[in-house]
Amino acid sequence: MELRKDPITRSWVMTGDEASEPKPRPDAPCPFCSDSTTLHVIAKAPNTPGAAWSARSVVHPTPLYHIEGEPGRRGDGLYDRMHSVGAHEVLVENPNHDRHLWRASDEEIAHFLRLAAERILDLKRDPRIKYVSLFKDYGKNAGQEFSHPTSQITATMFVPRRVLYELRAGREYFVGKERCVFCDIIQQEERQAQRVIEVRGDYLALGPYAPRVPYETWILPRNHDSSFERTGLNKPGLRMNLAALLRRTLQRVRTVTEDFHLVLHTSPSSLHPSKNLGYWKTIDDDYHWHIEIMPVVPSKAKSYTFKEVYYSPVTSETAAKQLREAKIEG
Ligand SMILES: [Zn+2]
Ligand SMILES: [Zn+2]
Ligand SMILES: [Zn+2]
Repeated sequence: MELRKDPITRSWVMTGDEASEPKPRPDAPCPFCSDSTTLHVIAKAPNTPGAAWSARSVVHPTPLYHIEGEPGRRGDGLYDRMHSVGAHEVLVENPNHDRHLWRASDEEIAHFLRLAAERILDLKRDPRIKYVSLFKDYGKNAGQEFSHPTSQITATMFVPRRVLYELRAGREYFVGKERCVFCDIIQQEERQAQRVIEVRGDYLALGPYAPRVPYETWILPRNHDSSFERTGLNKPGLRMNLAALLRRTLQRVRTVTEDFHLVLHTSPSSLHPSKNLGYWKTIDDDYHWHIEIMPVVPSKAKSYTFKEVYYSPVTSETAAKQLREAKIEG
């Protein structure tokens, strides 16, 4: 597999003619449950009573990115390509096979969040890494890979397109107003109270003004902070509030659909201030970390893929009201 850059949109895509992988036998034991010796464990979160670990990070069994080697970025006429050098880890959220984030305790989720923060920080120390993504796909319509409660981390030598757009837009807004666009959104949303789903301590869940899919939901810190890993590591009280809000928000989303994508957007590695790309200069002031949850509502997902204009047949006001009032477990 290699990475190629679209010369028009400047986004990187991974492509290659890969041999199809052997499918695991349906009766094979879950590799993430036990102390399987086939896994390459990278880090563990502290023990909880009765368990050897509460969350842990392992090398992805079939990684898309490999930590060895150099990117070997090179041109081919007007095109750009490089090897898929980076890191690809599975974050096992919980030792128990069925304790998904919406069923786990806040302590368990907080352990997972702390481990995620540690892994992001550690990967950002690699001078080759520009960005670390944390994401989760759940449900068969969302491309879920493992049945065990897991998220995944990729560390790449480029900033993914959506984050790049956000960084550029955040910086442009900041240049004009000397304010963070996310902070301004939060202020207006709290004032208007139409798209806010829940406030929990220093965190807020809301339906974005212009949703890409029905019931799209963001979770943000209410106080300005560009990097998740800073909060995730330093403030245990905050982590518990975030854990509770994440759990409750996923419970709400699950009253609409089981399948969802979740992605964490945090600031890129600041080890690499770029000379030509302006967005690194004020990043701590103009970027604001957040979690995006994109529910997959199959019958309504039809229109946008071809036209590339997002189409959401439910407004965020209606969606937020429905999610706010949803009966959840607590
Ligand atoms: Zn399992
Ligand atoms: Zn902000
Ligand atoms: Zn984002």
